[in-house]
Amino acid sequence: MAFPSDIEIAQINEHDKMKNISEIANKVGLDDADIEPYGHYKAKISGSGINKAMKNDDGKLILVTSINPTPAGEGKSTVAIGLADALQALGKKTVLALREPSLGPVMGMKGGATGGGYAQVVPMEDINLHFTGDMHALTSAVNTLAALIDNHLHQGNELNIDPRRIIWKRALDINDRSLRNAVIGLGGPINSIPREEHFEITVASELMAILCLAQDIDDLKERIASILIAYTYDRKPVFVRDLKVQGAITMLLKDALKPNLVQTLENTPAIIHGGPFANIAHGCNSILATELAMKLGDYTVTEGGFGADLGGEKFMDIVTPKLNHAPNAVVIVATIRALKYNGGQKLADLQNEDLNALTLGFKNLKRHIHNMRYYNVPVVVSINEFATDTDNEIKLLTSLCDEVGVDVQLTEIHHKGSKGGLNLAKAVIKATEKEANYTRLYEDEQTTEEKIATIASEIYGANNVEYSAQALKQLQTLKDNVWDDLPVCIAKTQYSLSDDPKKLGSPKDFTLHVQSLIPKLGAGFIVVLTGSVLTMPGLPSKPAALNMDVDNTGKISGLF
Ligand code: ADP
Repeated sequence: MAFPSDIEIAQINEHDKMKNISEIANKVGLDDADIEPYGHYKAKISGSGINKAMKNDDGKLILVTSINPTPAGEGKSTVAIGLADALQALGKKTVLALREPSLGPVMGMKGGATGGGYAQVVPMEDINLHFTGDMHALTSAVNTLAALIDNHLHQGNELNIDPRRIIWKRALDINDRSLRNAVIGLGGPINSIPREEHFEITVASELMAILCLAQDIDDLKERIASILIAYTYDRKPVFVRDLKVQGAITMLLKDALKPNLVQTLENTPAIIHGGPFANIAHGCNSILATELAMKLGDYTVTEGGFGADLGGEKFMDIVTPKLNHAPNAVVIVATIRALKYNGGQKLADLQNEDLNALTLGFKNLKRHIHNMRYYNVPVVVSINEFATDTDNEIKLLTSLCDEVGVDVQLTEIHHKGSKGGLNLAKAVIKATEKEANYTRLYEDEQTTEEKIATIASEIYGANNVEYSAQALKQLQTLKDNVWDDLPVCIAKTQYSLSDDPKKLGSPKDFTLHVQSLIPKLGAGFIVVLTGSVLTMPGLPSKPAALNMDVDNTGKISGLF
C-alpha cells in the first residue's frame, strides 16, 4: 500500500489527537487570558501573554538548516517538527518556532510548509490556507500604502515624487506572473497618474520582513516610518514618514504582530509567525516568535529558509544579533538524493544507488558544515531518510561525516514521527551542552563591499565579486546617504553555493555577480541582488491547484 499523503495523515490524526489550544497554552505556562483563540485549535498570544513570557529566562535554541536542496525541498520543516516532537518525547519542554506558509506556492508546486508524514503542524489545512489572517492583513497594508502614494501624486504631489522612481510595490499572496509588470492609472485625469507598477508576492514585500524583525508596536511603527518608498525628481529619498501614514499602516498590522500558537501531531506547542523569502529577505519566522518560544520552552527548534548559505547565514548574521541569543546547536539536514544530485546524478535517476555521485556530492555538505562551524556553534548532521536510500549509501555517508568529525544521525521522522528522531534529539541535547562561542562573520561598521566580499569568500567559496555599472552607482548612493552601516541580505539561487544554479557541489574559483543593491531601511538591511531574482513567482504548467477539492461537508483533499 502506498504511504499516505501529508493531508491524509493529518486528517486521520488531527481530529482524534488535537488538543484544545488552551491546553497547549497551559503546557507552557500561559493561561486562557494570555491567548486569543481563533476557533478551537489556533490562537494568537496576547500582549499580556507576551509580557508574562518575557520575564522568563531563555531556553536553548536549535537552528535547523540544510544543504543546497533539489527543487522538491529536503525536509527541513519535517525534521524540525520531528526533532521538536522527539525532544518532547524525551521529556524536554520544547516549543517550535516556524514560518507561516504563503498561499502562492501552495497553489503552485512546492507542497505546504507544515512538515510532512508523521511530523506535521496542525490543523494543516488552516495553516496552509488563511490561518489567522496575517497574510491578508499584510497584503492590505502593502496595498494601502501603495494607494496612498498614488493618491499623493493625484492630489498635487506636494513631495515632488518622481512617478518613475517609486520603489514601493503592490502585493498579492498569489503566484501571478501576469502582474510582474503592469501599467496603472490609465483612463484620464480622474483615474490618477499613469505609471509603471510591479506586483510582488506578499511574503517578498519589505513589510513582511519588517513584521518579522519588529519587537513591539512602537518598533513596528518606527520601521514602517523608515521605509524608503521613492525618490523625488531631484533624486532625494522619500520615506513613509514624509507621507505621515505610518500610524495607519501599523494599525492594520496590530493583530498580525501577535504570534500564532498551534501544535504538532504529537501536541508539541508550535509558534508559527511570519514568513519572509530567504533570498530578498532573511527567511526566518518572526523574532517575536523565536523569543517567545525560547522564553516558554527549555528547547526551541527553529528553521532558516533554503540552504545554510542563505537562511543559515542570514540567521547567524542578521537575526542572531537582534535576538541576542545565538543558536546553541545547528542541525544541517541532508538527503542522500540531494547529495547525489549535487554529485552529478540526474534528477530522474536519484532513486538508483550511486556511491560515486554521493562521494562527489558530499563536498556540498562538507562546505556547509565548515560554514556553520565558522560561527563557533556545535553542528549535528541529520540524514533525512528516504525509502530509496540504500544501506551502502547510508553507510558511506555516515563514514564521510565521521571523517570530518561531525556527529551524524539517520532520522526516520517522516515515516515514524518522534520515534524516528530520538537519536537526533539525544545528539542535539548533547551538542547544546557543549561550549559555544558565537562569532559573527562581519561587523555592521564594515563597508557594504567588505561585507559582501566576506560572505562571498567565507560562505560561498567565491574568489571574486564583480559589480554591474548599476550596482556601482547604487553603492555610491548608499555611501552618500550613510546607509551602508546595515547588514547585507544576499539574494541568490538556492540551488548552488554560487550565483549559478548549474554549479553544483562545492564550486571554487568563481565570481559572484552583484547586479543591484536595494536599501530596505525599514527592515534594516541592504538587499544584494545577484542575477535576476523573481519577487512574484509564476505557476507551473500543472499547478498543484488541479488536485485540490473540497466536499459538501467542508473536507479538503489534494492539499499535498
Ligand atoms: P523543506 O522544509 O526543506 O522545504 P519540507 O519539510 O517542507 O522540506 O518537505 C518537503 C516535502 O517532502 C513534504 O511534502 C514532505 O512530506 C516530503 N518529505 C520530507 N521528508 C521526507 C522523507 N524522508 N520521505 C518522503 N518524503 C519526505
